[in-house]
Amino acid sequence: MSTQPRVVIVGGGVAGLSVLSTLTSHFVAKSQTFNITLIEKKNFTESSIFTLRYMVNPQEYHHENSHVLLDELEKTFDKRNGYSVKMISHSQASKLDTEHSKITIQQLDGNSIKGEETIEYDYLILANGCRYKTDYIKANIEKIESVTPQSRLHEFHQFYDKITSKENDHVVIVGGGALGIQLAGELIDVNQWRGKHGLEPFKITLVHSRKLLRDRSNSETAHNYIYNHLVKNGVEVFMGKRAFYKDVSQLVSSGEETNPLIKKEIVLKPNIPNAELTSEQVIELPKASMIFWCGGMIPNTEWLEGSHIARNSQGFIQVNDFYQTVNHPNIFSLGDVTDLPYEKLAGSAVREGITVGTNIVKMSNFIQQIKKVAPQFSSTASMLKNKEKSGKFELSLGSINGLIGKKEIIEVKGQKAADIMTEKGRNRAIGLLRNPEIFIRKFGEFIQSNL
Ligand SMILES: Cc1cc2nc3c(=O)[nH]c(=O)nc-3n(C[C@H](O)[C@H](O)[C@H](O)COP(=O)(O)OP(=O)(O)OC[C@H]3O[C@@H](n4cnc5c(N)ncnc54)[C@H](O)[C@@H]3O)c2cc1C
Repeated sequence: MSTQPRVVIVGGGVAGLSVLSTLTSHFVAKSQTFNITLIEKKNFTESSIFTLRYMVNPQEYHHENSHVLLDELEKTFDKRNGYSVKMISHSQASKLDTEHSKITIQQLDGNSIKGEETIEYDYLILANGCRYKTDYIKANIEKIESVTPQSRLHEFHQFYDKITSKENDHVVIVGGGALGIQLAGELIDVNQWRGKHGLEPFKITLVHSRKLLRDRSNSETAHNYIYNHLVKNGVEVFMGKRAFYKDVSQLVSSGEETNPLIKKEIVLKPNIPNAELTSEQVIELPKASMIFWCGGMIPNTEWLEGSHIARNSQGFIQVNDFYQTVNHPNIFSLGDVTDLPYEKLAGSAVREGITVGTNIVKMSNFIQQIKKVAPQFSSTASMLKNKEKSGKFELSLGSINGLIGKKEIIEVKGQKAADIMTEKGRNRAIGLLRNPEIFIRKFGEFIQSNL
């Protein structure tokens, strides 16, 4: 290992940034020299938490509160003496050679790959997240494309144009977890807007395969609250059903790409494995203009094929109690991309980043005993903490006038969940994103007390 440890972080989301800030705060405190490289496919970092809001209201997406350019972030780190952080944006990790501790990255230029380089590492952090089956929610990682804030805003406008168009008469949401119900909440808002502008509301159908909505909270109270709100606002909710394309060929129809409003036919079947179904049990939905598959995250790990990094059957990276990958103690993984069983949340990713950063510091100083897994977040935890009722966590539900807490509902008088998200949660998250000094100091204090 080189005397100046070389740390390479793949992914500039909240998990990657948390490791970065943990490492830099430690190294600054101890005047230790080091070399950190962060590789990110986009040229900015954004918080996924707000994307549904931007989809239905792109006007809210602007420079001050929605993203931070990595160039800007790099300069902030460069101001400090004794270390530098290199951010390589518009580049994707494409190959990993664990035997020689080398990672290959491809530089993107528009829709093509303009070059390739290989970087050596002493410690590697895989924090490259997940994507969803549905577009827009996250920047498209699969395409060869150099994503910028401008192209992201363009995507949000495209979505907005589709959802507000007269041709849109039916939207189907498949999955009644946190993502599906938040989306339904936002779409109810759009319908209210359409009503005010003399446009017909579109039909919203939500299909969920289990007995309770947002079943990870396992709360009938929460389920009833959400269910009643959705139904009261015109959403047709199907419980215990699975959705399928009636004609599988629609999935590969080239027309779908060019004309997203092509009508899609969906059928619903009871969620009973291997059951022989009668035709009466199969429900045919009215043709849909748009379908959102909100269940199931897909890890961005295809590029690790052949790298000897152990992944589970769905492609999530397997880690031990210290976030080390199997058989590679110097390669860590965290955030949405790991196979850890708890709900994937920004809050957990930040905590995991602190643990991973601390582990690397200890290993680079030959301290054998590294930190155990950070305490698991409650499966219902969310970004915002209700100050008045400590210990309760909140979740944005579009304009649902109340918030879901741990197994109960927290009513917030006179304020909409989305507004609270905007004013408090967003300021806090963006404040941290835009102000790495605070981010570093805050986590630095935590680290010093834990080393
Ligand atoms: C709509 C929505 C609402 C949410 N609401 C909440 C909430 O209220 N509270 C909460 O705590 N959490 C919430 N979450 C979850 C939270 O956003 C995620 O858990 C968190 O963003 C995960 O962070 P991450 O860094 O692991 O992944 P990401 O944020 O996805 O970051 C991964 C990064 O890796 C980059 N990347 C991918 N592949 C490569 C590659 N090959 N090379 C280089 N870079 C690559 C990507 O561009 C991306 O920037 C929400 C998520 C969504 C989608």
